[in-house]
Amino acid sequence: MKVKCPTCDKEQEYSKDNPFRPFCSERCKLIDLGEWASGERFIAGEPDWSLPEDDHPDQPLH
Ligand SMILES: [Zn+2]
Repeated sequence: MKVKCPTCDKEQEYSKDNPFRPFCSERCKLIDLGEWASGERFIAGEPDWSLPEDDHPDQPLH
């Protein structure tokens, strides 16, 4: 079954193998958690999360 990532709206297979479900990735999960905690704290410490813009066109932090 397909679900949409709550953070970026990207459709993905809902799988028990995905530890970040219902999010598509750890990045989106932490973005969602960060929205109520501290908006940018987790990004500052994780530069490796920078992805190509067109991979997340609806990225809420932009
Ligand atoms: Zn996502």
